[in-house]
Amino acid sequence: MKVARFDFASDLQPLLKRGLRDQPVEMRFQGPQSVKHLIESLGIPHTEVGPLRANGERIGLDYIVQDGDRIEVRAVAPAADNTTESRFVLDGHLGRLASHLRMLGLDCLYQNGYEDKELVCISVEDGRILLTRDRLLLMHKVISQGYLLRSLNSTEQLYEVVQRYWLVKWVRPFERCMNCNHPLEPVRKESVLEKLEPLTKKYYDDFKLCPACNQVYWKGSHYERMLELIEQVSQDVQ
Ligand SMILES: [Zn+2]
Repeated sequence: MKVARFDFASDLQPLLKRGLRDQPVEMRFQGPQSVKHLIESLGIPHTEVGPLRANGERIGLDYIVQDGDRIEVRAVAPAADNTTESRFVLDGHLGRLASHLRMLGLDCLYQNGYEDKELVCISVEDGRILLTRDRLLLMHKVISQGYLLRSLNSTEQLYEVVQRYWLVKWVRPFERCMNCNHPLEPVRKESVLEKLEPLTKKYYDDFKLCPACNQVYWKGSHYERMLELIEQVSQDVQ
């Protein structure tokens, strides 16, 4: 039997079982085991793991842990210098988060019928960040971009994602359909009149249409609430 000691960064502590937090974790294991495997056996997906060191030396996730190793595990740092816009695929339980992110104009694929295999495939082939609360899903070896949502609340989840991927600078409200993710197009009021309620007809002149699902959008009270939320997120994250 071999033994290795793991020191987890404070950001990763909440992902450990209660009895293992706030102290070095001693792991006993047999045979050749990668550091990825041992960390994931404690419940932390590799997508949450940042820089790793064994006995002070930088190592990768495929490092084979040796008897007596002291492993230091840092968390992934927020993507502060992202120069390209992040795109996402969300697992089937995250419909509300998908709407929130689309409301901010962010590109999010979501269907409540997605199976695990499809999610993994889309993330890898389309270069999309996989958002989920399912740790096992993120433990698929091929997943390189993913984030384990901590909260069950969709607004808190939105904060988490905006913070982790530094999304404030990519926010473009009123640009993407909340139902289907398609970019919206400006549309003349006359051409959508029959879809509008009397008060909407009376008070609003600026409309957008989703060419994919025909949903009409205007800057009504929901738009004001959306701007408030965006402002709040922007202030809290920066
Ligand atoms: Zn649509």
